[in-house]
Amino acid sequence: ISEQSWRDVDAFLTGELVEEDDALRAARASEQEHGLPQIEVAPNQGAFLALLAQVAGARRVLELGTLAGYSTIWLARAVGAQGRVTTVELDPRHADVARQNLERAGVADRVDVEVGPALEVVGRLADEGVEPYDLVFIDADKANMPAYLELALRLTRSGSVIVGDNVVRGGRVADAADDDPNVRGARAFLQAIGSDPRLDGTALQTVGSKGWDGFAVARVR
Ligand code: SAM
Repeated sequence: ISEQSWRDVDAFLTGELVEEDDALRAARASEQEHGLPQIEVAPNQGAFLALLAQVAGARRVLELGTLAGYSTIWLARAVGAQGRVTTVELDPRHADVARQNLERAGVADRVDVEVGPALEVVGRLADEGVEPYDLVFIDADKANMPAYLELALRLTRSGSVIVGDNVVRGGRVADAADDDPNVRGARAFLQAIGSDPRLDGTALQTVGSKGWDGFAVARVR
């Protein structure tokens, strides 16, 4: 099966099932316009994230890794007008582009864009004792995924959902000898979910327009 087939199926699924409006399309296009990496979630993955948030009845969402705000728009729409999304981004240029996209999508008033290293920003939120988040989407640097999971556990409650993206890394996650920091981070993240008595979780590998990867979903017990 070729990667072209994966792309064709993604195009079909997205065409049939995903309502991407002008603001979402513009957010994706803005990455290329501003020279940002085009590594946002695929449209059907964005829709999946939004559905997860809705199924969980999420009102408060924390996202690590904003980029241009594409997934943030999906999440912000899912939490509704009374909801709140905090999204954390290291690169101020990415955060600026994201703010414009969130404005255009009509959700800027329900999103806080925090600029800085996620370990610091999220660590501060945990120290401040903010209200627990209903869903945490971990999509920043993959090497720190285990640390982000620990922080997410300090910032959630029983029933909260934690999602980690890009955990399969073209299959490399299964190779214990792979010493790439991102692969090691994803591997340790999955092992932590599997062994932590505070969590129920699983992971699925995916193919599609973004290649071969996967995501993990966990629920806080
Ligand atoms: N969630 C976005 C979406 O689907 O539209 C994509 C996020 S992209 C995969 C990862 C982002 O994490 C990049 O914008 C990158 O600058 C940011 N990032 C990398 N290291 C970070 C760190 N230590 N703290 C916060 N953000 C970081």
